[in-house]
Amino acid sequence: MQQSRRHRAKKSLGQNFLVDRNICGKIVSRLDIKPGDTVLEIGPGQGALTSLLLESEAKKVIALEKDNELAQDLTHRWPDLELHATDALQFDWGALADSGPCKIIGNLPYNIASKLIWDIVSTPQSYTKAVFMVQHEVALRLTADPSNKQYGGLTVWVKNHAQTRYAFKVPASVFRPQPKVDSAIVEFFPFEIDMLPKSPQRLDGLIKTCFQKRRKQLYNILKSKWNSDIEGWFNQYEISPKSRPENLTPEQFESLSRLM
Ligand code: SAM
Repeated sequence: MQQSRRHRAKKSLGQNFLVDRNICGKIVSRLDIKPGDTVLEIGPGQGALTSLLLESEAKKVIALEKDNELAQDLTHRWPDLELHATDALQFDWGALADSGPCKIIGNLPYNIASKLIWDIVSTPQSYTKAVFMVQHEVALRLTADPSNKQYGGLTVWVKNHAQTRYAFKVPASVFRPQPKVDSAIVEFFPFEIDMLPKSPQRLDGLIKTCFQKRRKQLYNILKSKWNSDIEGWFNQYEISPKSRPENLTPEQFESLSRLM
């Protein structure tokens, strides 16, 4: 893969660069870019995905890169790229909606992937589709069903804001330096406004409370914290008082949050 000068990968920024052009093509094709689309890439790095995005039919390509050295290289190579040398964790995703929603893509730095995804899905009006590469285990969490070992707080939050789809596995061998674990591609399709949580703050609080104690019975967790009609809710949904947080569907969490 072309690169303007030697760059020493920074572990602290999760820099594992893709070096297989076929895989890059497969990932970018998942974004389904149409003429007129604006595409935003998180962490372009040495430009493995960026070069394909710039060759695509996208009207505009925006990229957020925290590493100043890499950001400078990219700006020199591609003046057409709207490069922001910034931390994606500080980015105002809500503001994206004002200029029209875009498509988002990224081979995400592994140490901030979950937090970034949590933030991005929370502003579903800012994107029409997202394609992210994450550690394989995180991909399983993002797409897990209830009562599955991988099902957790991240799953419940994300599935209350978007439909997720596990696309394909990416072996560690296509990165330099090679990470210790495999990765996978996950696709995100944001929900329409009427399908979003009615009270996101309460849902957030409920998820965090429940999954801090995922081995405890849900009834006991809730009763010790809230005074609502928990029994009535369990009866209405025919949920056993012995259920644990991992047994509830994302929709049941949303409904429960409205009681709190
Ligand atoms: N897209 C490139 C590729 O696939 O080869 C690089 C992917 S590498 C896994 C992650 C990239 O995200 C790196 O370029 C890293 O510098 C950048 N990065 C790390 N933390 C970031 C942050 N908080 N905000 C924006 N970019 C970040």
